[in-house]
Amino acid sequence: MRLGMYVQVPFCQTKCTYCNFHTGVFSSDLYAPYVDAVCREIAEYPRLLQESRIAEVSNAEVDTVYFGGGTPSLLDPTGLARILESMRAGFNCNFEEVTLEADPETITHEKAAAWRKAGFNRISMGVQSFQDNELKAAGRMHRRDDVFRATQVLRKTGFDNISFDLIAGLPHQTHDSWDESVAQLLSMRPDHVSIYLMEIDESSRLGLEVLTGGTRYSASALPDDDSMAAFYDHACARLADAGYVHYEISNWALPGFESRHNLKYWQRQPYCGFGAGAHSFNGQQRWANAHDPAAYVTAIRQGRFPIEQLADVSRDDALEEELFLGLRQLAGIDLARIESEYNANLQPRVEELRAQGLVEWDGTRLRLAPDRLTVSNEVFVNLLT
Ligand code: SF4
Repeated sequence: MRLGMYVQVPFCQTKCTYCNFHTGVFSSDLYAPYVDAVCREIAEYPRLLQESRIAEVSNAEVDTVYFGGGTPSLLDPTGLARILESMRAGFNCNFEEVTLEADPETITHEKAAAWRKAGFNRISMGVQSFQDNELKAAGRMHRRDDVFRATQVLRKTGFDNISFDLIAGLPHQTHDSWDESVAQLLSMRPDHVSIYLMEIDESSRLGLEVLTGGTRYSASALPDDDSMAAFYDHACARLADAGYVHYEISNWALPGFESRHNLKYWQRQPYCGFGAGAHSFNGQQRWANAHDPAAYVTAIRQGRFPIEQLADVSRDDALEEELFLGLRQLAGIDLARIESEYNANLQPRVEELRAQGLVEWDGTRLRLAPDRLTVSNEVFVNLLT
């Protein structure tokens, strides 16, 4: 078992209309103290865990690191390098995959070179769309030309593992504009692709507008659910034709470029999260840090662990996670192992779902039916209740 490290950087230049993450626009004066706090959290981690009665994280080798956000590429590269150095100093590190999330407009030659030097070897770029009107309506800072320029910079600097994110369901998106975005993406041959369906909930400005019947943020120009599902299916077909392996509901990779770090989440492997709002899992407990970056910095400066949530993972929770997380992978789950490990009989429900065409079961592995991935929630609800 190997360990993953996650660093949350909750800073953004603007707040995108659809964003439902705990991130925001903060004064850049907070960036340096935040980096200091993350380095200190890493250095003092064993003591902080002990004082919070959290079981030690395994002493396993750390092979993956993921800087997510927010917009981690906003931070000074020397700060990012210091965080990686703190990990090397405090943990048994043998980094194989070190990812930085970066927004296209923040990527420069100087930064990319400094990222490489610090040890980053994978960039996950928030592309979202190749249509300027969709990017503008969503409140994104970049335009499609920034994506072309940034990709060239990254390739020239030696990054040979680049991931692009797209969002299906942005305001003003049409079947034609989606087709064009997917075609542009394929023409650039990223090594990895994530496609997320637009989420409408009250924690984003756009979501709240939709739920309250308003029209701001181009709420009335949102594609309907059927269109979104069609966009997703269309992307599945185009990516498969282009040689990408669909390995998780929202993720595709050229062979060998699956995200090792993210696989840890779906396979319930341990990971340590650092920074405001970061989540962690040690196999027995899950916990999360305070979301507010200023409160996080203050707590760390005072030598306190800024935990907001800490929960033991019960046997029932663990079983739910095995199903819910495991089935997100298109390779599916080893049902016999899970039934024996949790003393559970899932066969009757599996049979029902199979009869409805929602899952495939080959006697060993249980998988979501590839043509029904957009209704995966139905499967999860049926299996878990
Ligand atoms: S850049 Fe990402 S995290 Fe920041 S506001 Fe936009 S969607 Fe949210």
